[in-house]
Order: sequence, then structure tokens, then C-alpha cells
Amino acid sequence: MKNSNGKFFVKFRGTRGSFPTPSKSQLEYGGNTACVEVNVNNNLIILDAGTGIIGLGEDLVIDHIASATTSFDRTPINATLLLSHIHQDHIQGFPFFKPAHLTSTNLQVFGYSDFDEGLDEILSDLLFSKSFPLDLGDIAANLNITNISGNDEIIILSPDNKQPIIKTVTCKDDFIPQGEEVIISCYKSYAHPQNGVMSYKIAYKDKSVVYATDREGYIGGDKKLARFARNCNLLIHDAQYTEEDYSSTMAPKQGFGHSTFDMALDIQNQSHAKQLAFFHLEPSYSDEKISAIETEYKNKEPNCFVAKEGLEIEII
Ligand SMILES: [Zn+2]
Ligand SMILES: [Zn+2]
Repeated sequence: MKNSNGKFFVKFRGTRGSFPTPSKSQLEYGGNTACVEVNVNNNLIILDAGTGIIGLGEDLVIDHIASATTSFDRTPINATLLLSHIHQDHIQGFPFFKPAHLTSTNLQVFGYSDFDEGLDEILSDLLFSKSFPLDLGDIAANLNITNISGNDEIIILSPDNKQPIIKTVTCKDDFIPQGEEVIISCYKSYAHPQNGVMSYKIAYKDKSVVYATDREGYIGGDKKLARFARNCNLLIHDAQYTEEDYSSTMAPKQGFGHSTFDMALDIQNQSHAKQLAFFHLEPSYSDEKISAIETEYKNKEPNCFVAKEGLEIEII
């Protein structure tokens, strides 16, 4: 694990939406599906488990092995995995995340379930049992899967507690990280079919990062999201379609649950987010096309960019 004592940085591990795209013309922005690594004050937080989590797992295991010569002395991998929802492009990398197969790893998974089953049963059905050689219960790591309901819960990571603490709060706006705490707040929305999506805000000291993938914008912008992301340092927002593709008469994308670049920019403007990362890239878009879009949007707003696999952003 990286030493991030007093630091806060983000690395994009997978930025593609819907399905992986390993074609030569898409490798610059990357072909892996959604995964963002956040290292903050010695906490590793992973946003979604698309195929991008596989490379992250490889790197974590290399560092783990290098930490000592015997397995007993090695620094364990501790991670908090936040799932936005359970569509395949946000979970499909999880069975191949190598640290999950080490007994020394501690993995805390948070997400929500609007179904009759809990999140653990859903992940077991979708990723293990019939579709993988192991059952979820066979995972070697110390794995805790917790359902969160959304808007009135926060997760606190504190150096004083080994495990994350979930608290129910009446007003998240009043909840500011104290000292060395990292606070994760959640915003549940139905802006994504069929069962909605969770956005997350990770806050440390007076800095914050908001992850708002897989959500379709509203006319006039999602005011609740703009409030949730207010003054954040980095807003990672769904931007799957150009305006032209979104409203094309031949194959309109309205109602698919994804935003346009303009919708993402609108939330940046309304929230006063200091930087905007366009995320969840349309799988049919080539590097050439995305690069041209990025240039166009940077001319409108210098503090925006397209999330690229491998790109690191320093918050503190
Ligand atoms: Zn997605
Ligand atoms: Zn989705």
C-alpha cells in the first residue's frame, strides 16, 4: 500500500463505460471499465470494481510482497471498496482482484441493494457461484459486505479504529472531517435505470472528491447533486455521450441513464467544483474522437479534462 500519510491523491484505473474496449484505437484513454483508486491519509479507497481493479490488485500485491521477506511480516492490504451500483461494468473485475485471494487482506465493501436480496447475495449470484470457480464464501480475504441505504449515512475512516464506522446523520452538511478522519458521504439517486446509483464524496481536512458516475442529467441540472458536490476539489462525473449522440433521431440515448459532456459541465458550474473529470467513456468512441472532445471542452472550461487510465491527480 502506498504511504499517503497526510496526502490525498486519485488514480484512474478504468474509465470506460459499459464494457471493456481493448482495441488499439482506444488505449490512450483506456479500455478498462470503471475503477478509481483513492489514497487518502493512509486509507485506500476504491471506487467501483470494473476491470480497472485488476491492474490495481496486481500493483497492490507487488507492494505487499516487497514489504517483507516472509508472509508473516508483510504489510497487509487494507481497502474500502465503494460500489456505485451492481451493473457489470462496475463489479466485473472483483473476482480477479488478487488481494481478495490473500488471507492477510482486509476488504470492506459498501454498496446498496434495492432488491429483496442483500448486496452479498447479489454479488454472489452475479460474480461467483455459477460463473466463477469459487463461491463468494471461499474468498480468502477478511471480507465484509455492508448494505448502505444512502442519504443519511456516512462512513468514517479514522486512525483510531481499524474498521470503518457507519453513522446515521440528520444533516451531512454539518459533518466535517475532524483531525485525521476521512469521511465518506453517500447520495442515492434514481437517475440511472433500473435501481438507481450511489454517488460518493470522500472528504479529508477541507478537501473533497466526488464520484458521480452512471447518472443522467436533468433539465436545469441535478440540484441535489450540485449541492452534494459543492466546492469539491475534483468532481468525477459521467460523460458518456456527445450532445449530438444523446439526442440523435436515428438512435437517441435519452433514458439510458448517462450524461452528456454538457450535463457534466453544468454540474461543475453549479457546484463550483474546482476540477471536473469526464468519466464513463462511451465504448464506441476512439482516442481521436475523445481527444477532439477534450480540446473543445477545455476551450470552454480550462479546469476540466477527460479521465484517462493511469492518470494521477494530487488533491493534497
Ligand atoms: Zn456503468
Ligand atoms: Zn450502470
